[in-house]
Amino acid sequence: RPLAAPGLSCVSRAASNAPPARVSRLFQPCNLREGQDAGDMTCRSQRLMLQGGLLHPSSPGCFHYLPGAVRSLEKLVRLVDREMRGVGGQKLDMPALCAAEPWKRSGRWGLMGKEMFRLRDRHGTDYCLGPTHEEAVTELLASQGGLSYKQLPLLLYQVTRKFRDEQKPKFGLLRGREFYMKDMYSFDVDKDAAQHTYQSVCEAYGRLFDQLGLRWVQVQADTGNIGGTLSHEFHLPADIGEDRLQVCGNCGFAANVETLSPGRADCPRCESSSLVESKGIEVGHTFYLGTKYSSVFNATFINAQNKPEVAEMGCFGLGVSRILAAAIEVLSSDDAIRWPSFLAPYQVCVLPPKRGSKTGQLTSLAEELAHSLGSGLSNLRGEVVLDDRTQMTIGKRLKDAARLGYPYVVVVGPRAAEELPQFEVVCQNSGETLFLSREALVDML
Ligand code: ATP
Ligand code: MG
Ligand code: MG
Ligand code: MG
Repeated sequence: RPLAAPGLSCVSRAASNAPPARVSRLFQPCNLREGQDAGDMTCRSQRLMLQGGLLHPSSPGCFHYLPGAVRSLEKLVRLVDREMRGVGGQKLDMPALCAAEPWKRSGRWGLMGKEMFRLRDRHGTDYCLGPTHEEAVTELLASQGGLSYKQLPLLLYQVTRKFRDEQKPKFGLLRGREFYMKDMYSFDVDKDAAQHTYQSVCEAYGRLFDQLGLRWVQVQADTGNIGGTLSHEFHLPADIGEDRLQVCGNCGFAANVETLSPGRADCPRCESSSLVESKGIEVGHTFYLGTKYSSVFNATFINAQNKPEVAEMGCFGLGVSRILAAAIEVLSSDDAIRWPSFLAPYQVCVLPPKRGSKTGQLTSLAEELAHSLGSGLSNLRGEVVLDDRTQMTIGKRLKDAARLGYPYVVVVGPRAAEELPQFEVVCQNSGETLFLSREALVDML
Protein backbone atom coordinates (compact mmCIF):
# COMPACT_ATOMS: atom_id res chain seq x y z
CA ARG A 1 0.00 0.00 0.00
CA PRO A 2 1.47 3.39 -0.94
CA LEU A 3 2.15 5.21 2.29
CA ALA A 4 2.97 8.86 1.82
CA ALA A 5 0.18 10.32 -0.24
CA PRO A 6 -2.87 8.75 1.43
CA GLY A 7 -1.26 9.29 4.82
CA LEU A 8 -0.92 12.99 4.14
CA SER A 9 -4.44 13.42 2.85
CA CYS A 10 -5.77 11.66 5.98
CA VAL A 11 -3.92 14.12 8.16
CA SER A 12 -5.24 17.14 6.31
CA ARG A 13 -8.83 15.84 6.36
CA ALA A 14 -8.58 15.26 10.09
CA ALA A 15 -7.11 18.72 10.65
CA SER A 16 -9.76 20.49 8.59
CA ASN A 17 -12.47 18.69 10.54
CA ALA A 18 -10.95 19.41 13.95
CA PRO A 19 -13.35 20.66 16.65
CA PRO A 20 -13.15 24.37 17.48
CA ALA A 21 -10.79 25.56 20.21
CA ARG A 22 -12.50 26.06 23.59
CA VAL A 23 -11.80 29.19 25.58
CA SER A 24 -11.74 27.17 28.82
CA ARG A 25 -8.75 25.25 27.46
CA LEU A 26 -6.74 28.14 25.97
CA PHE A 27 -3.52 29.06 27.71
CA GLN A 28 -3.97 32.81 27.93
CA PRO A 29 -3.27 33.73 31.54
CA CYS A 30 -3.94 37.36 32.43
CA ASN A 31 -0.57 38.80 33.41
CA LEU A 32 -1.85 42.11 34.68
CA ARG A 33 -4.80 42.50 37.04
CA GLU A 34 -7.25 45.35 36.59
CA GLY A 35 -5.94 48.46 38.30
CA GLN A 36 -2.44 47.01 38.58
CA ASP A 37 0.22 49.27 37.11
CA ALA A 38 2.93 47.61 35.04
CA GLY A 39 5.35 50.46 35.73
CA ASP A 40 6.36 53.58 33.84
CA MET A 41 7.84 51.67 30.91
CA THR A 42 4.44 50.58 29.71
CA CYS A 43 2.07 51.71 27.04
CA ARG A 44 -1.42 50.69 25.91
CA SER A 45 -0.36 47.78 23.70
CA GLN A 46 1.84 46.31 26.41
CA ARG A 47 -0.91 46.53 29.05
CA LEU A 48 -3.48 45.03 26.67
CA MET A 49 -1.15 42.22 25.64
CA LEU A 50 -0.36 41.36 29.26
CA GLN A 51 -4.02 41.52 30.28
CA GLY A 52 -5.13 39.54 27.25
CA GLY A 53 -2.79 36.64 28.00
CA LEU A 54 -0.69 37.24 24.89
CA LEU A 55 2.60 38.02 26.61
CA HIS A 56 4.35 37.08 29.80
CA PRO A 57 7.33 39.18 30.92
CA SER A 58 10.56 37.23 31.27
CA SER A 59 13.43 39.69 31.81
CA PRO A 60 13.72 43.37 30.80
CA GLY A 61 12.92 43.58 27.09
CA CYS A 62 12.25 39.84 26.78
CA PHE A 63 8.85 38.17 26.71
CA HIS A 64 7.28 34.77 26.44
CA TYR A 65 5.03 34.94 23.40
CA LEU A 66 1.96 33.01 24.56
CA PRO A 67 -0.14 30.95 22.12
CA GLY A 68 -2.45 33.81 21.03
CA ALA A 69 0.53 36.03 20.22
CA VAL A 70 2.21 33.21 18.30
CA ARG A 71 -0.91 32.66 16.18
CA SER A 72 -0.97 36.34 15.38
CA LEU A 73 2.75 36.57 14.70
CA GLU A 74 2.56 33.56 12.37
CA LYS A 75 -0.17 35.31 10.39
CA LEU A 76 1.91 38.44 10.12
CA VAL A 77 4.92 36.42 8.95
CA ARG A 78 2.75 34.76 6.27
CA LEU A 79 1.77 38.20 4.97
CA VAL A 80 5.38 39.36 5.05
CA ASP A 81 6.43 36.19 3.19
CA ARG A 82 3.83 36.81 0.53
CA GLU A 83 5.04 40.37 -0.08
CA MET A 84 8.73 39.48 0.01
CA ARG A 85 8.26 36.54 -2.37
CA GLY A 86 6.22 38.91 -4.55
CA VAL A 87 9.34 40.99 -5.17
CA GLY A 88 11.49 37.90 -5.72
CA GLY A 89 12.73 37.35 -2.17
CA GLN A 90 14.03 33.89 -1.18
CA LYS A 91 13.77 32.98 2.48
CA LEU A 92 16.75 31.63 4.38
CA ASP A 93 17.70 31.44 8.04
CA MET A 94 21.11 32.56 9.28
CA PRO A 95 22.64 31.80 12.69
CA ALA A 96 21.81 34.12 15.59
CA LEU A 97 25.21 33.25 17.06
CA CYS A 98 27.61 35.27 14.92
CA ALA A 99 31.41 35.04 14.93
CA ALA A 100 33.11 38.37 15.65
CA GLU A 101 35.60 38.10 12.81
CA PRO A 102 33.38 39.46 9.98
CA TRP A 103 32.24 42.27 12.28
CA LYS A 104 35.86 43.16 12.94
CA ARG A 105 36.53 43.16 9.19
CA SER A 106 33.64 45.56 8.48
CA GLY A 107 34.71 47.76 11.38
CA ARG A 108 31.39 47.42 13.18
CA TRP A 109 32.64 45.26 16.07
CA GLY A 110 33.79 48.51 17.65
CA LEU A 111 31.05 50.76 16.21
CA MET A 112 28.16 48.79 17.67
CA GLY A 113 29.28 49.63 21.20
CA LYS A 114 27.23 48.54 24.16
CA GLU A 115 24.14 47.70 22.10
CA MET A 116 25.76 44.46 20.97
CA PHE A 117 25.41 41.33 23.10
CA ARG A 118 28.88 39.79 23.10
CA LEU A 119 30.04 36.41 24.29
CA ARG A 120 33.07 34.14 24.09
CA ASP A 121 33.21 30.40 23.48
CA ARG A 122 35.33 27.84 25.37
CA HIS A 123 38.22 28.40 22.94
CA GLY A 124 38.31 32.11 23.64
CA THR A 125 36.73 33.10 20.30
CA ASP A 126 34.49 36.18 20.31
CA TYR A 127 30.88 36.03 19.18
CA CYS A 128 27.83 38.22 19.27
CA LEU A 129 24.11 37.57 19.17
CA GLY A 130 23.13 39.01 15.79
CA PRO A 131 21.62 42.51 15.97
CA THR A 132 21.44 42.55 12.12
CA HIS A 133 23.06 40.43 9.38
CA GLU A 134 24.80 42.52 6.71
CA GLU A 135 28.15 40.92 7.50
CA ALA A 136 26.81 37.38 7.57
CA VAL A 137 24.89 37.56 4.32
CA THR A 138 27.63 39.39 2.42
CA GLU A 139 30.18 36.83 3.53
CA LEU A 140 27.78 34.09 2.46
CA LEU A 141 27.49 35.56 -1.01
CA ALA A 142 31.26 36.15 -1.27
CA SER A 143 31.90 32.49 -0.42
CA GLN A 144 30.12 31.50 -3.67
CA GLY A 145 33.04 32.84 -5.70
CA GLY A 146 30.97 34.89 -8.05
CA LEU A 147 27.42 34.23 -9.23
CA SER A 148 26.63 34.99 -12.84
CA TYR A 149 25.11 38.40 -13.59
CA LYS A 150 22.18 36.36 -14.93
CA GLN A 151 21.40 35.27 -11.36
CA LEU A 152 20.95 38.84 -10.14
CA PRO A 153 19.07 40.54 -8.62
CA LEU A 154 19.35 38.14 -5.70
CA LEU A 155 17.12 38.95 -2.73
CA LEU A 156 17.65 36.91 0.41
CA TYR A 157 15.60 37.43 3.54
CA GLN A 158 14.85 35.88 6.90
CA VAL A 159 12.46 36.40 9.80
CA THR A 160 14.49 35.76 12.92
CA ARG A 161 15.12 36.93 16.44
CA LYS A 162 17.50 39.84 16.74
CA PHE A 163 19.34 40.85 19.88
CA ARG A 164 20.15 44.38 20.97
CA ASP A 165 21.13 45.46 24.44
CA GLU A 166 18.84 48.50 24.35
CA GLN A 167 19.66 51.05 27.01
CA LYS A 168 15.99 51.36 27.93
CA PRO A 169 13.90 48.42 26.80
CA LYS A 170 10.33 49.65 27.15
CA PHE A 171 6.80 49.58 25.80
CA GLY A 172 6.71 45.79 25.59
CA LEU A 173 7.34 44.47 22.10
CA LEU A 174 7.88 47.98 20.77
CA ARG A 175 11.40 48.10 22.16
CA GLY A 176 12.65 44.71 23.20
CA ARG A 177 16.13 43.38 23.69
CA GLU A 178 15.19 40.23 21.78
CA PHE A 179 12.72 40.80 18.95
CA TYR A 180 11.64 39.52 15.55
CA MET A 181 12.89 41.29 12.49
CA LYS A 182 12.43 40.56 8.82
CA ASP A 183 15.71 41.50 7.20
CA MET A 184 16.21 41.29 3.46
CA TYR A 185 19.45 41.85 1.57
CA SER A 186 19.66 42.54 -2.14
CA PHE A 187 22.51 42.06 -4.61
CA ASP A 188 22.40 43.79 -7.97
CA VAL A 189 24.63 44.30 -11.00
CA ASP A 190 24.74 48.11 -10.90
CA LYS A 191 23.35 51.24 -9.25
CA ASP A 192 20.32 51.50 -11.51
CA ALA A 193 19.33 47.91 -10.90
CA ALA A 194 19.89 48.33 -7.15
CA GLN A 195 17.70 51.43 -7.05
CA HIS A 196 15.00 49.61 -8.97
CA THR A 197 15.11 46.81 -6.39
CA TYR A 198 15.06 49.43 -3.63
CA GLN A 199 11.93 50.98 -5.09
CA SER A 200 10.12 47.68 -5.49
CA VAL A 201 10.77 46.66 -1.88
CA CYS A 202 9.56 50.05 -0.62
CA GLU A 203 6.37 49.53 -2.60
CA ALA A 204 5.93 46.08 -1.09
CA TYR A 205 6.24 47.63 2.38
CA GLY A 206 3.47 50.09 1.51
CA ARG A 207 1.22 47.26 0.30
CA LEU A 208 1.86 45.30 3.48
CA PHE A 209 0.79 48.18 5.74
CA ASP A 210 -2.22 48.86 3.49
CA GLN A 211 -3.36 45.25 3.84
CA LEU A 212 -3.12 45.59 7.59
CA GLY A 213 -5.35 48.66 7.38
CA LEU A 214 -2.75 50.82 9.12
CA ARG A 215 -2.02 54.47 8.49
CA TRP A 216 1.67 54.80 7.60
CA VAL A 217 4.16 57.33 6.35
CA GLN A 218 7.45 56.87 4.49
CA VAL A 219 10.13 59.40 5.43
CA GLN A 220 13.73 60.15 4.47
CA ALA A 221 15.98 58.75 7.14
CA ASP A 222 19.43 58.67 8.56
CA THR A 223 21.61 55.70 7.62
CA GLY A 224 22.93 55.28 11.19
CA ASN A 225 25.56 52.62 11.74
CA ILE A 226 24.23 50.45 8.90
CA GLY A 227 25.63 52.96 6.37
CA GLY A 228 24.89 53.70 2.73
CA THR A 229 23.67 56.76 0.88
CA LEU A 230 19.89 56.50 0.58
CA SER A 231 17.48 55.48 3.27
CA HIS A 232 13.82 55.59 4.23
CA GLU A 233 11.88 54.74 7.33
CA PHE A 234 8.27 53.58 7.53
CA HIS A 235 6.37 54.91 10.51
CA LEU A 236 2.97 54.45 12.10
CA PRO A 237 1.91 57.88 13.38
CA ALA A 238 1.40 57.64 17.16
CA ASP A 239 1.94 59.93 20.11
CA ILE A 240 4.05 57.39 21.97
CA GLY A 241 6.35 57.08 18.93
CA GLU A 242 9.96 57.91 19.75
CA ASP A 243 10.81 59.48 16.39
CA ARG A 244 9.94 63.04 15.36
CA LEU A 245 8.81 63.40 11.77
CA GLN A 246 8.37 66.48 9.59
CA VAL A 247 5.83 66.26 6.78
CA CYS A 248 5.23 69.09 4.32
CA GLY A 249 1.53 69.83 3.83
CA ASN A 250 2.35 71.54 0.53
CA CYS A 251 4.54 69.12 -1.46
CA GLY A 252 4.42 65.90 0.59
CA PHE A 253 8.12 65.94 1.50
CA ALA A 254 8.61 63.83 4.64
CA ALA A 255 11.68 63.26 6.77
CA ASN A 256 12.82 62.12 10.16
CA VAL A 257 13.98 65.31 11.92
CA GLU A 258 17.33 63.59 12.50
CA THR A 259 18.10 64.26 8.81
CA LEU A 260 17.22 68.02 8.80
CA SER A 261 19.15 71.04 10.04
CA PRO A 262 18.17 71.83 13.52
CA GLY A 263 15.11 73.94 14.07
CA ARG A 264 14.17 74.00 10.39
CA ALA A 265 10.70 75.50 9.73
CA ASP A 266 10.68 75.68 5.92
CA CYS A 267 10.43 72.66 3.64
CA PRO A 268 13.79 71.71 2.08
CA ARG A 269 12.04 70.71 -1.13
CA CYS A 270 9.42 73.43 -1.85
CA GLU A 271 10.63 76.03 0.70
CA SER A 272 7.05 76.67 1.88
CA SER A 273 6.51 76.98 5.62
CA SER A 274 4.12 74.03 5.69
CA LEU A 275 6.25 71.55 7.64
CA VAL A 276 4.15 69.83 10.29
CA GLU A 277 5.78 67.82 13.03
CA SER A 278 4.33 64.56 14.34
CA LYS A 279 5.56 61.46 16.14
CA GLY A 280 5.95 58.01 14.70
CA ILE A 281 6.79 54.41 15.58
CA GLU A 282 9.51 53.15 13.24
CA VAL A 283 8.24 49.87 11.82
CA GLY A 284 10.51 49.52 8.79
CA HIS A 285 13.82 50.85 7.51
CA THR A 286 15.33 50.52 4.03
CA PHE A 287 18.91 51.26 2.98
CA TYR A 288 20.67 51.49 -0.34
CA LEU A 289 24.13 50.32 0.66
CA GLY A 290 26.12 50.59 -2.56
CA THR A 291 29.29 48.55 -2.19
CA LYS A 292 29.96 49.36 1.47
CA TYR A 293 29.86 45.70 2.53
CA SER A 294 30.37 43.92 -0.78
CA SER A 295 33.75 45.60 -1.28
CA VAL A 296 34.93 44.63 2.23
CA PHE A 297 33.99 40.97 1.76
CA ASN A 298 34.69 40.89 -1.96
CA ALA A 299 31.14 39.83 -2.78
CA THR A 300 31.36 39.76 -6.55
CA PHE A 301 29.41 38.48 -9.52
CA ILE A 302 30.69 37.58 -12.99
CA ASN A 303 29.61 40.27 -15.45
CA ALA A 304 28.72 39.93 -19.15
CA GLN A 305 32.39 40.43 -20.06
CA ASN A 306 33.21 37.44 -17.85
CA LYS A 307 34.98 39.66 -15.27
CA PRO A 308 34.29 39.72 -11.52
CA GLU A 309 32.56 42.88 -10.35
CA VAL A 310 31.56 43.97 -6.85
CA ALA A 311 27.77 43.70 -6.28
CA GLU A 312 25.57 46.66 -5.37
CA MET A 313 23.60 46.03 -2.20
CA GLY A 314 20.50 47.11 -0.35
CA CYS A 315 19.08 46.05 2.99
CA PHE A 316 15.51 46.20 4.18
CA GLY A 317 14.35 45.76 7.78
CA LEU A 318 10.84 45.28 9.13
CA GLY A 319 10.20 45.16 12.87
CA VAL A 320 7.88 42.16 12.82
CA SER A 321 7.15 41.93 16.56
CA ARG A 322 7.12 45.73 16.76
CA ILE A 323 4.47 45.87 14.00
CA LEU A 324 2.26 43.50 15.99
CA ALA A 325 2.39 45.70 19.09
CA ALA A 326 2.27 48.97 17.12
CA ALA A 327 -0.89 47.83 15.30
CA ILE A 328 -2.56 47.10 18.63
CA GLU A 329 -1.25 50.40 19.97
CA VAL A 330 -2.81 52.51 17.22
CA LEU A 331 -6.07 50.58 16.70
CA SER A 332 -7.12 49.76 20.27
CA SER A 333 -8.85 51.68 23.02
CA ASP A 334 -7.45 51.70 26.56
CA ASP A 335 -9.44 48.64 27.59
CA ALA A 336 -10.10 46.66 24.41
CA ILE A 337 -7.76 45.23 21.81
CA ARG A 338 -8.54 45.88 18.17
CA TRP A 339 -6.56 43.91 15.62
CA PRO A 340 -5.98 44.35 11.93
CA SER A 341 -8.53 41.62 10.97
CA PHE A 342 -5.78 39.59 9.31
CA LEU A 343 -3.83 39.32 12.54
CA ALA A 344 -6.45 38.45 15.17
CA PRO A 345 -5.46 35.13 16.80
CA TYR A 346 -9.00 33.84 16.12
CA GLN A 347 -11.47 35.43 13.71
CA VAL A 348 -14.73 34.30 15.32
CA CYS A 349 -15.86 33.60 18.87
CA VAL A 350 -19.16 31.74 19.34
CA LEU A 351 -20.99 32.25 22.65
CA PRO A 352 -23.41 29.56 23.81
CA PRO A 353 -26.04 30.60 26.40
CA LYS A 354 -25.42 30.42 30.13
CA ARG A 355 -25.68 26.95 31.61
CA GLY A 356 -29.11 26.29 33.19
CA SER A 357 -30.80 29.27 31.54
CA LYS A 358 -34.07 28.82 29.62
CA THR A 359 -32.16 28.58 26.37
CA GLY A 360 -29.69 26.04 27.73
CA GLN A 361 -30.72 23.55 25.06
CA LEU A 362 -29.08 25.85 22.54
CA THR A 363 -25.66 24.79 23.78
CA SER A 364 -25.43 21.96 21.31
CA LEU A 365 -26.58 24.25 18.49
CA ALA A 366 -23.76 26.66 19.40
CA GLU A 367 -21.23 23.83 19.46
CA GLU A 368 -22.39 22.54 16.10
CA LEU A 369 -22.34 26.08 14.62
CA ALA A 370 -18.80 26.73 15.86
CA HIS A 371 -17.67 23.38 14.49
CA SER A 372 -19.22 23.81 11.07
CA LEU A 373 -18.00 27.42 10.65
CA GLY A 374 -14.49 26.49 11.68
CA SER A 375 -14.21 23.43 9.46
CA GLY A 376 -16.49 24.25 6.54
CA LEU A 377 -15.47 27.71 5.37
CA SER A 378 -11.92 27.54 4.10
CA ASN A 379 -11.03 31.07 5.24
CA LEU A 380 -12.21 30.25 8.77
CA ARG A 381 -10.53 26.86 9.12
CA GLY A 382 -9.14 26.72 12.64
CA GLU A 383 -10.21 30.34 13.20
CA VAL A 384 -13.30 29.75 15.34
CA VAL A 385 -13.25 29.51 19.10
CA LEU A 386 -16.12 28.48 21.35
CA ASP A 387 -16.45 30.35 24.64
CA ASP A 388 -17.60 27.32 26.59
CA ARG A 389 -17.37 28.99 30.01
CA THR A 390 -21.13 28.62 30.30
CA GLN A 391 -21.07 29.15 34.05
CA MET A 392 -20.55 32.84 33.14
CA THR A 393 -23.35 35.09 31.84
CA ILE A 394 -23.40 36.01 28.17
CA GLY A 395 -22.83 39.64 29.18
CA LYS A 396 -19.65 38.82 31.05
CA ARG A 397 -18.29 36.71 28.22
CA LEU A 398 -19.22 39.41 25.69
CA LYS A 399 -17.22 41.89 27.71
CA ASP A 400 -14.28 39.52 27.68
CA ALA A 401 -14.61 39.01 23.93
CA ALA A 402 -14.65 42.78 23.43
CA ARG A 403 -11.45 43.05 25.48
CA LEU A 404 -9.70 40.37 23.41
CA GLY A 405 -10.89 41.84 20.11
CA TYR A 406 -12.17 38.85 18.09
CA PRO A 407 -13.30 40.53 14.85
CA TYR A 408 -16.66 38.65 15.04
CA VAL A 409 -18.58 37.48 18.09
CA VAL A 410 -21.62 35.27 17.41
CA VAL A 411 -24.11 35.03 20.26
CA VAL A 412 -26.43 32.03 20.29
CA GLY A 413 -29.16 33.68 22.37
CA PRO A 414 -32.99 33.48 22.70
CA ARG A 415 -33.56 34.46 19.05
CA ALA A 416 -31.73 31.33 17.94
CA ALA A 417 -34.57 29.30 19.50
CA GLU A 418 -37.28 30.96 17.40
CA GLU A 419 -38.92 29.35 14.41
CA LEU A 420 -36.68 31.33 12.04
CA PRO A 421 -33.49 31.24 14.14
CA GLN A 422 -31.34 34.35 14.23
CA PHE A 423 -27.86 34.88 15.58
CA GLU A 424 -26.58 38.07 17.09
CA VAL A 425 -23.29 39.03 15.41
CA VAL A 426 -21.10 41.71 16.94
CA CYS A 427 -18.63 43.00 14.34
CA GLN A 428 -16.07 44.42 16.70
CA ASN A 429 -13.96 46.28 14.16
CA SER A 430 -16.88 48.27 12.74
CA GLY A 431 -18.86 48.39 15.99
CA GLU A 432 -22.01 47.06 14.26
CA THR A 433 -24.39 44.50 15.76
CA LEU A 434 -26.44 42.46 13.31
CA PHE A 435 -29.13 39.79 13.65
CA LEU A 436 -28.63 37.23 10.91
CA SER A 437 -30.05 33.93 9.80
CA ARG A 438 -27.57 31.09 9.61
CA GLU A 439 -27.28 31.43 5.82
CA ALA A 440 -26.69 35.20 6.05
CA LEU A 441 -24.10 34.62 8.79
CA VAL A 442 -22.20 32.10 6.67
CA ASP A 443 -22.39 34.48 3.69
CA MET A 444 -21.01 37.36 5.70
CA LEU A 445 -18.13 35.39 7.21
P1 ATP B 1 15.05 52.36 16.72
O1 ATP B 1 15.36 53.69 16.11
O2 ATP B 1 13.62 52.22 17.13
O3 ATP B 1 16.01 51.98 17.80
P2 ATP B 1 16.62 51.14 14.73
O4 ATP B 1 16.67 52.28 13.77
O5 ATP B 1 17.74 50.97 15.66
O6 ATP B 1 15.24 51.25 15.57
P3 ATP B 1 16.94 49.28 12.55
O7 ATP B 1 18.36 48.95 12.73
O8 ATP B 1 16.55 50.22 11.49
O9 ATP B 1 16.34 49.76 13.97
O10 ATP B 1 16.14 47.87 12.44
C1 ATP B 1 15.08 47.58 11.55
C2 ATP B 1 13.74 47.54 12.25
O11 ATP B 1 13.75 46.67 13.39
C3 ATP B 1 13.31 48.87 12.82
O12 ATP B 1 12.72 49.69 11.82
C4 ATP B 1 12.30 48.48 13.89
O13 ATP B 1 11.03 48.31 13.32
C5 ATP B 1 12.83 47.13 14.36
N1 ATP B 1 13.50 47.28 15.67
C6 ATP B 1 14.69 47.87 15.92
N2 ATP B 1 15.00 47.81 17.22
C7 ATP B 1 13.98 47.16 17.83
C8 ATP B 1 13.71 46.78 19.17
N3 ATP B 1 14.59 47.05 20.14
N4 ATP B 1 12.56 46.11 19.44
C9 ATP B 1 11.68 45.82 18.45
N5 ATP B 1 11.88 46.16 17.16
C10 ATP B 1 13.01 46.81 16.84
MG1 MG C 1 17.94 51.28 17.67
MG1 MG D 1 15.68 54.40 14.21
MG1 MG E 1 16.21 52.26 11.78
